[in-house]
Amino acid sequence: MKIEEEDGANESYITLLGKLVWQLVMETEGFWARLMQAKYYPNGDVLSADLGSYLSYTWRGIMEARDALGCGWRRHIGDGLLTRVWYDAWLPATQTGRILSPWVAGQEDLMVADLLEEHGEGWRNDHLNSLFLPFKGERIRSIRISLCRPRDVWYWVAVKDGVLTVRSAYRRIAGMREALEVGGASEWEKEKWLWNRLWKVPVWLRVKLFFWQLCSEALTTSANIAAQVQGECSFCPLCTICFESSIHLFRDCTFSNRVWEGTGLVEDECDGGGSLRDWVESRWREFGCIEHALFMMGCWALWEHRNKVIFYSKEVDPAGVIGRAMNVMEETEGGGFI
Ligand SMILES: [Zn+2]
Repeated sequence: MKIEEEDGANESYITLLGKLVWQLVMETEGFWARLMQAKYYPNGDVLSADLGSYLSYTWRGIMEARDALGCGWRRHIGDGLLTRVWYDAWLPATQTGRILSPWVAGQEDLMVADLLEEHGEGWRNDHLNSLFLPFKGERIRSIRISLCRPRDVWYWVAVKDGVLTVRSAYRRIAGMREALEVGGASEWEKEKWLWNRLWKVPVWLRVKLFFWQLCSEALTTSANIAAQVQGECSFCPLCTICFESSIHLFRDCTFSNRVWEGTGLVEDECDGGGSLRDWVESRWREFGCIEHALFMMGCWALWEHRNKVIFYSKEVDPAGVIGRAMNVMEETEGGGFI
């Protein structure tokens, strides 16, 4: 099946992955980017990360999208300190952006900074002449170096101003996905299963995005923050008895159980095991369309309430969460959910 023939959910999911990769490359100080870095590539960046043995669907989707977008990234050379001469894509006006010639023994770890004069705007001709063929040396010399030497940054070459557009990301990833389908089933299909269903539920777009983050363990729960900074996990603000992980907050907390009872989405007996993602998928299979919307709204209202309790010292109030979820459900019934 050609990707263009499928419904809007595919395109939106593809776009989402493209944007996530963009965030991880460009907005490295954001909470989510730091969380992902701590977990998957503590000593590098997302463009040089390995897939590893992680089973996370999100991570696999991001890696697939990263690879599809891979040859669209280039380093803009500032001080050259972050750019590896032989591995990174930093040559402008070339197909791959890479040097593509064998390195001299002992120079594997050479950084672009090593090729620059200590001060000024110039390149070290002695290095360029000894390390590269003449035409490649010329290409390097054509890169202008700013006197103030800012940090090296990534930019995106598929569009003129270097900013990733939805369309250029989509084209790249769509091409990748077709190649994957030729190779057989991929993790992509598993992740798409969830997103396709989320996409069709008549709730606000921001609720869909929130819920997707929840399923991807990307919410700023105390456990997620503690894992990132190697700090201590604090107690759940709603029951104040257990540590605040996402599976606790949404499934196991006595407070959230009261919310689920109040919405009629009563939880079956649960042995306390399994991941949040397993729980969401099992609930999803049991429910019909209206319950899907209510379930997503309930999680969203729970999270909103949890934030008000933490940041505005609001009293805990399960009836308030139920009322909020129901009210927004009614408001969005007319189809004004985008
Ligand atoms: Zn709790």
